Amino acid sequence: MENPAEEEAVGVGFDGARAAVLVAGLRRGFASGRTRSYEWRAAQLKGIVRMIDDKEAEIMAALHDDLAKPHMESYLHEISLAKAACTFALKEMKRWMKPEKVPTSITTFPSSAEIVSEPVGVVLVISAWNYPFLLSIDPVIGAIAAGNAVALKPSEVAPATSSLFATILPKYTDNSCVKVVEGSIPETTALLEQKWDKIFYTGNGKVGRIVMTAAAKHLTPVALELGGKCPVLVDSNVNVKVATKRIAVGKWGCNNGQACVAPDYILTTKSFAPTLVDAMKKTLEKFYGKDPLESPDLSRIVNAKHFRRLTSLLDDEKVSGTIVYGGQQDEKHLKIAPTLLLDVPHDSLIMKEEIFGPLLPIITFNEVEDCLDFINSKAKPLAAYLFTKDKRLEERFVKTVSAGGMLINDTALHLANPHLPFGGVGESGIGAYHGKFSFDSFSHKKAVLSRGFGGEAPARYPPYTPQKQKI
Ligand code: NAD
Repeated sequence: MENPAEEEAVGVGFDGARAAVLVAGLRRGFASGRTRSYEWRAAQLKGIVRMIDDKEAEIMAALHDDLAKPHMESYLHEISLAKAACTFALKEMKRWMKPEKVPTSITTFPSSAEIVSEPVGVVLVISAWNYPFLLSIDPVIGAIAAGNAVALKPSEVAPATSSLFATILPKYTDNSCVKVVEGSIPETTALLEQKWDKIFYTGNGKVGRIVMTAAAKHLTPVALELGGKCPVLVDSNVNVKVATKRIAVGKWGCNNGQACVAPDYILTTKSFAPTLVDAMKKTLEKFYGKDPLESPDLSRIVNAKHFRRLTSLLDDEKVSGTIVYGGQQDEKHLKIAPTLLLDVPHDSLIMKEEIFGPLLPIITFNEVEDCLDFINSKAKPLAAYLFTKDKRLEERFVKTVSAGGMLINDTALHLANPHLPFGGVGESGIGAYHGKFSFDSFSHKKAVLSRGFGGEAPARYPPYTPQKQKI
């Protein structure tokens, strides 16, 4: 920490002036040049790996406080993925940092050309509450790997994890170039007023628009990791036992449906729906027992506001009579059981907004073709899933459905492959990260062409004599 004013700034309740002090400190840190070295980047990333190892129990406890997240899920979906992202960056970073030689053209002969990845500078990461550890640290890892100074604003909706970050991250990283700012709308607004070199935001599209508007004032590029309604198309030829397990684990086994890639609704044929619903019920009972509200393997709803938002989707009179499984609620403990709804009207509330919770509508059509048309009539989702053994349908799905990412015969797992970009398209977001895509997201790709003093072409230079114009 370079001066006490900055120390003071890193906390709840700061205004624009204090945010400016914080950014100025980060700019000084970045201008010193130290974040650019491989050694600095590697030291920070090693610090983060150590932090994850040392503080695993505290991280698990914070995630449990915030969401009653089962320890197994905290480990598999947050801690191990964060550690894997960090070790992957450590392993690959030297290669990513190397200038990339590219071919030259006859117009520039003789010359050499390369793309140099340079850090964009001072970046802001604003993250969301549902995977409050992973969604905060993962972009920070990318920002550091690319050589930037970074401020992280974790979500106030997961206060235990936010406060843990503020306590532990400065102990394991260079405090002058990696900062945590806790707070809610006023603090985030103060941060957004500042000039950043990149803003990386995870959350809903409404706030995404606020972020983009604030960024536009300074011509700051943004990555917006948003959500949407992720469809699952289930063909009738599937192994229904495996399919329902994989759908259930991607929905309720991911934070009780509070996940950006969680299946939002299922599409299937009218003739196959009874088989699917029956198998789904059996799978859910096997996973969460006869009284799912008592299951320790289901996260709770994050807070009362989101609980009421979800129950109001069930209260919508348009969906009355469509619940075929679940529906139990415990307001005191903010629990909602896995709930299946069959053939909800297309204009019901639950089909209009992202559900982001344990409710799963199943929509039926006569033909698979109609299911494809339905998906394509909606906003482009963050993820689209297809269960089928039909290779031709798989090809058609991949070709014709636009989504941030897609997965055939499973759910959610695609985001665990660091060789695949993770991000949305259209309403589900702008930009992507994970693995090298994170490094690229926080880098400027500088075009560098280099020439010697030979290879002069007189026609290039005035005066453009008639003789020169002949060529
Ligand atoms: P949230 O409430 O935690 O908000 C996200 C961030 O925005 C927080 O840090 C919050 O402080 C800030 N914020 C909220 N209101 C603001 C305002 N008016 N001005 C400035 N900043 C503000 O999270 P959320 O939006 O409820 O998250 C859920 C949404 O995020 C869902 O749509 C989900 O699909 C999406 N999501 C996407 C991804 C992804 O990787 N694509 C991951 C998780 C969640």
